[in-house]
Amino acid sequence: MNNAIGYAALDPNTPLAPYSFTRRAVGLNDVKIEILYCGVCHSDLHTVRNEWNNTLYPSVPGHEIVGRVTAVGDAVKAFNVGDLAGVGCMIDSCQNCPSCGEGLEQYCENGFIGTYNGHAFGGSENTFGGYSDHIVVNEKFALRISHAEGDLAAVAPLLCAGITTYSPLREWKVGPGQKVGVVGLGGLGHMAVKIARAMGAHVVLFTTSPGKKEDALRLGASEVVVSKNKEEMAAHLNSFDFILNTVAAPHDLDAFLSLLKRDATMTLVGAPETPHPSPSVFNLIFKRRRLAGSLIGGIAETQEMLDFCAEHDIVSDIEMIDIQDINEAFERMLKSDVKYRFVIDMASLKSA
Ligand code: NAP
Ligand code: ZN
Repeated sequence: MNNAIGYAALDPNTPLAPYSFTRRAVGLNDVKIEILYCGVCHSDLHTVRNEWNNTLYPSVPGHEIVGRVTAVGDAVKAFNVGDLAGVGCMIDSCQNCPSCGEGLEQYCENGFIGTYNGHAFGGSENTFGGYSDHIVVNEKFALRISHAEGDLAAVAPLLCAGITTYSPLREWKVGPGQKVGVVGLGGLGHMAVKIARAMGAHVVLFTTSPGKKEDALRLGASEVVVSKNKEEMAAHLNSFDFILNTVAAPHDLDAFLSLLKRDATMTLVGAPETPHPSPSVFNLIFKRRRLAGSLIGGIAETQEMLDFCAEHDIVSDIEMIDIQDINEAFERMLKSDVKYRFVIDMASLKSA
């Protein structure tokens, strides 16, 4: 066993605070990664506050992990001590079911193991995430990073926000000549704008925050619509090939479904605490529109996304914080006041 330190929530109502725990010793196929930076995903906040009613406490969140390999097991092939590496939302899956066989570990039919808030197979032990000094993980669930080392902190958010938006953009074959909507300019939304633009689409960003207009254009949107403005919305009726909805709160889906062309799809990746109001059936059936969902992405696709982003010079726009600032960062995230992802400088943990 290795001693580890991190920040944990002990229950839904108290702030995150320093927490000591142990990690497994490095096994034959494991890599040990010293965590240098960890992104702050809205899912971390949903989890520590038990908004999805499934939180195991103590809860050490964090699934946008980047750092340096400090030890490798004897059978490890893809990593050497000193390499940069990343860990995203999963640390294991059954490896036997049809979904795992297709490289879709996130849809593992026996349930993938989350980087945090996950039970090890057959056991009752909780998993602890990246708001901590190190992690030990099977090399199959570690990602290679080819961005410049100076970009490392801004690469961290790709491990969740990047793959969660890349995967549906690929699945629905977004590319040149298409008009693609992105709803919400937060951590996921700003990655969606950058990636959809790099894939060649005409990107329209929908926001509830008029103050984010300039940024959205700078990030790669060709047009920005303030979604509370009915006239601006009406100008886009029946015109979208695809919409990716990243909003973290319940809202009126019809406002966006009515903007889709015939046969087009809106895919939800946001996972609010309470359900959206039901969309109108008529809005779907009269144009054979589709409403879909998508969960992160598989390991091979996560590697593909990291390589795509390195090739296209894509990183996240980040605001670096110390771990001691995490509770305030959560409050700001709730006010949509993030430009556009908080990343924790894990060196600050040493003074915790
Ligand atoms: P975030 O940084 O907080 O961004 C969410 C954005 O949604 C906000 O910046 C805001 O954008 C918009 N928004 C917030 N409240 C709203 C409201 N009441 N009405 C309309 N728009 C609102 O969160 P995130 O980290 O990107 O995560 C977004 C959601 O995706 C979360 O629910 C998270 O748990 C989920 N998630 C899902 C997956 C998956 O695999 N499906 C993976 C990761 C995260 P504007 O200011 O531009 O309006
Ligand atoms: Zn996440």
